[in-house]
Amino acid sequence: MQYLSTRGGIAHIPFTRAVLMGLAEDGGLLLPRTIPRIGSETMQAWQELSYSELAFEVMSRFIDDIPNSDLRALIDKSYSTFNHKDVTPLVHCGDLHILELFHGPTLAFKDVALQFLGNLFEYLLDRDDSVLNILGATSGDTGSAAIYGVRGKERVNIFILHPHQRVSPVQEKQMTTVLDDNVYNIAIRGSFDDGQAIVKKIFGDIDFKNTYNLGAINSINWARVLAQVVYYVWSCLHISSHEKDSTLDFSVPTGNFGDIFAGYIAKRMLPEGTIRRLILATNSNDILSRFVKDGDYSLSSVVQTSSPSMDIQSASNFERYLYYLLDSEPERTRDLMLEFSREGKIDLSSYDDQVRRDFASLAVSEEDVTATIKQFYKDHNYILDPHTAIGVKAAQHHRKKGVPMVCLATAHPAKFGDAVLNAIGREPEIPESIAGLMEKEARCELMDADSNAIQDYLKAHARHA
Ligand SMILES: *Cc1c(COP(=O)(O)O)cnc(C)c1O
Repeated sequence: MQYLSTRGGIAHIPFTRAVLMGLAEDGGLLLPRTIPRIGSETMQAWQELSYSELAFEVMSRFIDDIPNSDLRALIDKSYSTFNHKDVTPLVHCGDLHILELFHGPTLAFKDVALQFLGNLFEYLLDRDDSVLNILGATSGDTGSAAIYGVRGKERVNIFILHPHQRVSPVQEKQMTTVLDDNVYNIAIRGSFDDGQAIVKKIFGDIDFKNTYNLGAINSINWARVLAQVVYYVWSCLHISSHEKDSTLDFSVPTGNFGDIFAGYIAKRMLPEGTIRRLILATNSNDILSRFVKDGDYSLSSVVQTSSPSMDIQSASNFERYLYYLLDSEPERTRDLMLEFSREGKIDLSSYDDQVRRDFASLAVSEEDVTATIKQFYKDHNYILDPHTAIGVKAAQHHRKKGVPMVCLATAHPAKFGDAVLNAIGREPEIPESIAGLMEKEARCELMDADSNAIQDYLKAHARHA
């Protein structure tokens, strides 16, 4: 499989180059040249596969420059760190199916992609005899999942900036208690935006970037999207055997549009009608739900909510869907994205019919998040985290009789204990992986939000080839 850029400015490249490139060199995002199609007989044949076996079948259709036996080993290793035999188990609550994506090491769905990406980086660096210095800023979840993805790896150092005392105590400890030599946590005196601005500035210094083999782990990496396609296919296989009916809907708590875009790829891969619609659920940062509702893709300012991993306005993966919406025409994609970065808005209302064949949406208020956690606990004795509750609320709003609905559970409730306590009057049970976390030894550098100082710190601690 070859990969192209949504902006058309690069030659086609194979999978492993796409992974190492991250963002396309012309500023676009990388996509496979075609989306492979899976027939009903193949779906039948996949019915009994384990999660890892299925992951191999799905991913290998997009990868032809890693030998099959190596790819299998990478996948097996990535999902052996999950603490459930099904990796992403389905739990049935009334007429909703909850797809639990939080059984990885940091208890959020990002582990599904970042465990794989970490092992893939290690493999490619070994192959090429090179090294990587990963630099990223986090508001909480991504940082810990990325750190767990590469901790202890030979050829990688990771530097994660987080805003000092502005991430939750559990999130902070999940990052800072990882004591491997290759992990560098930096708390900056400033906000998440300050951290992101510093990262952008350092990546903008091309000489520095090349000299120090700087790499990113954000959700625009195609390998992350690809790893997430697997659990959509997994759900289709398991629900259709469970309910006979062969069409289903998914509800997806959405921030950067990565997870739901993986669902869109799955929808196009699988036999027509297997996935009917994707429900795009947002918190009050609702740019994407406004886009689905009436084609209004316009920025407003970010507000803080109880679902911080979805407090996002410009969704970094949106351009991938836009490319398909514009009939795969790179010039139009580039022009519209440039218009968006100039004006902060684009009008996509003329595509409403197509968009509504793919998606429905709902923006969920803070009151409704609390009410949903409370009601769901009462009805099903099941505790939702605030992100998952947003998806569940949107699912309840859009469900159609006779069409099974899968709700993606993106975080374990124990990561957001305060929101849960506030809704149901008790804390969720603490899973073993974070029990005792607060007492563990931690290591972290506290620094000013000064890009020169941080660049010097990188120079002093970077891994060299
Ligand atoms: C990252 C994240 C999301 C949003 O996923 P996107 O791929 O950015 O749309 C939702 N919930 C949780 C818990 C997350 O960590």
